[in-house]
Amino acid sequence: MASTHDVVIVGAGHGGAQVAAALRQHGFTGSVTLVGDEPGLPYERPPLSKDYLSGETPFERLLIHPPAFWRDRDVEVRSGRRVIEVDPREHRVVCDDGSMIGYSHLVWAAGGAARTLSCPGHDLRGVYTVRTVADSDRIRAELPAVTRVVVIGGGYIGLEAAAVLGSAGKHVTVVEAQDRVLARVAGVQLARFYENEHRARGVGIRLGATVECLEGNDSRVAGVRLADGELLPCELVIVGIGIAPSVGPLLAAGAQDGGRVGGVAVDKSCHTTLPDVFAIGDCAAHRNHFADGELIRLESVQNANDQAAVVARTLCGEDAEYDAVPWFWSKQYDLRLQTAGLSSGHDQSVVRGDPATRRFSVVYLRDGVVVALDCVNAVKDYVQGKKLVTGRLWVDPATLADPAVALKDLTPSATAAPH
Ligand SMILES: Cc1cc2nc3c(=O)[nH]c(=O)nc-3n(C[C@H](O)[C@H](O)[C@H](O)COP(=O)(O)OP(=O)(O)OC[C@H]3O[C@@H](n4cnc5c(N)ncnc54)[C@H](O)[C@@H]3O)c2cc1C
Repeated sequence: MASTHDVVIVGAGHGGAQVAAALRQHGFTGSVTLVGDEPGLPYERPPLSKDYLSGETPFERLLIHPPAFWRDRDVEVRSGRRVIEVDPREHRVVCDDGSMIGYSHLVWAAGGAARTLSCPGHDLRGVYTVRTVADSDRIRAELPAVTRVVVIGGGYIGLEAAAVLGSAGKHVTVVEAQDRVLARVAGVQLARFYENEHRARGVGIRLGATVECLEGNDSRVAGVRLADGELLPCELVIVGIGIAPSVGPLLAAGAQDGGRVGGVAVDKSCHTTLPDVFAIGDCAAHRNHFADGELIRLESVQNANDQAAVVARTLCGEDAEYDAVPWFWSKQYDLRLQTAGLSSGHDQSVVRGDPATRRFSVVYLRDGVVVALDCVNAVKDYVQGKKLVTGRLWVDPATLADPAVALKDLTPSATAAPH
């Protein structure tokens, strides 16, 4: 017999925790249950490739809220339990321990699982992804016996891990299949800047390099063989090649998928096509105002939190729609990157400031309109430039390039038509 709750949230990560917290903040008095397959309470994921991996920040500081927070707000956290089935007709979910939980409304906030390699040797010991605190713990436990590390994938997580391990004295090589790092998320100027920063600190960056296989000794990884035949000897491999959205039970229950971008399709209020079922965060494929209404998924804490707020407000009877400007941050060495907007599809980019000073911004334009910014150690540009992105403003590129002119003082030539 299933106990029934007003709101059942699947996934006790950033989005799930925020839905529960925001519901109470908005005065929701119904029963709220948060089901998560990881042990323990919701925690911050970004430090797993940054200051938690380096050992600077202890786990207690990663908790999104302390234990008393959930007790005081009467949010039941059922951890260590994986939802394996959704029954939309009966309005209930089934967990891997056989328990069933009935719901009036279901919020799917299950994020994604790190993609793994499929080449020979992918399952050797010493090969890791970084998605959970358990992953980060396993890597940290191995480090004392490790001299050489190969990071496969030059995205943010791979580069952050490379920065931490390189700073810890390991010999690190990043292998990236594209002709630059951060190819999926940033422009060429930013990519070249980070490549140079890593190389200057002794981290090897191999571009246009594909992995043929992983080689081992006694079932433990001993090297990464590239397609051109070169062997990169190592004792540890970190694979940072993206995630596969965790939406299996929802799709099996008949929810519409996200098509090309994967995940599960949601509308502006984060409803899936199943009755009374919402989805948020990394797994939610939504039409984004800042991507010209294209169906996309965003993998950022801010997106998970903003979509959580939309769902909480909707469940409290408000008309809420998701239209926040996307933003993201990354930390490598002493470089704090803040990004706003979406640079994909830009046709012009303008660099403000000199990258050699390690404080600069790249502003991306499409058809003359500011669509995104990447700001390195340039908080002012980030704060002021975000408004240019939100306002979809036409700005003279020559003025934009002058770092002496504050972004807040730029006179927009015009405003682009809203979508
Ligand atoms: C190493 C790392 C560094 C990052 N750095 C940054 C950063 O600097 N800035 C930034 O904005 N973002 C960063 N991100 C991305 C950010 O953490 C994610 O976008 C965010 O966590 C998404 O929140 P979510 O709620 O969608 O998913 P998650 O936080 O992943 O939570 C989903 C939870 O659901 C659980 N789950 C999955 N399936 C089930 C199931 N069937 N039943 C029960 N539970 C389930 C998962 O195990 C997980 O605990 C980083 C991510 C990683 C991994």
